[in-house]
Amino acid sequence: MIGCDCATCRSTDPRDKRWRTSVRVETDHDQSLLIDAGPDLRAQALAFDVRRVDAILFTHGHSDHIFGLDDVRRFNAMQRGSMPCYGDPMTLRDIRRAFAYVFDAATPRGGGLPQLDLYEVAGSFCFGRQEIIPVPIFHGDRAILGYRLGGFAYLTDCSRIPESSWPLLEGLDLLVLDALREARHRTHFSLTEAVEAARRIAPRRTCFTHMCHDLPHAATCARLPEGVELAYDGLVVDL
Ligand SMILES: [Zn+2]
Ligand SMILES: [Zn+2]
Ligand SMILES: [Zn+2]
Repeated sequence: MIGCDCATCRSTDPRDKRWRTSVRVETDHDQSLLIDAGPDLRAQALAFDVRRVDAILFTHGHSDHIFGLDDVRRFNAMQRGSMPCYGDPMTLRDIRRAFAYVFDAATPRGGGLPQLDLYEVAGSFCFGRQEIIPVPIFHGDRAILGYRLGGFAYLTDCSRIPESSWPLLEGLDLLVLDALREARHRTHFSLTEAVEAARRIAPRRTCFTHMCHDLPHAATCARLPEGVELAYDGLVVDL
């Protein structure tokens, strides 16, 4: 956190250095999907040598999840094509508003504009041969999307899972779930709420994401139940 001297912010453990929340999924069909494109996308792609992105799935339109979209230009150039972007109607509206210059016909064309194709998610769909199942969740009062791909589910910025979404989360190998801090929060699961949701979903492995500096990596992991841990930047999980 800017201007903070707490133990997490001063920690020398690299797992306490956190960029904004995102994940890359390599499918069994050799495609590379991003879930969200936050303001750190460029730094993350450089740090982890991300050379290809075939599509981006958006959970919602908050700035920490979409403000890396302009850097998609580099992938447009390398892949010689526009980037398919998927989200619910409100998220696509947020993207069109935040990146109005991209969608304004009066903006001069050329290398300076990302090429984005926006697709509305209205139920399960296939990208290539990969089935993608949207999982409706709540981020405070706002309905947003998590995603399930095979045995993997990604639910960030979640403060409530509606009854109808629990059946979509059965039989998971890996669950990534939002756990902001100890204290309750209006729009995110606290650590206790996230542990409780993970217990009910019962995946083989759970990784928490979107933590704030209230949760130091090592000390927090040490008191989590077996099979539950904090994720960290650069973590790779093989499924
Ligand atoms: Zn701090
Ligand atoms: Zn959010
Ligand atoms: Zn967020």
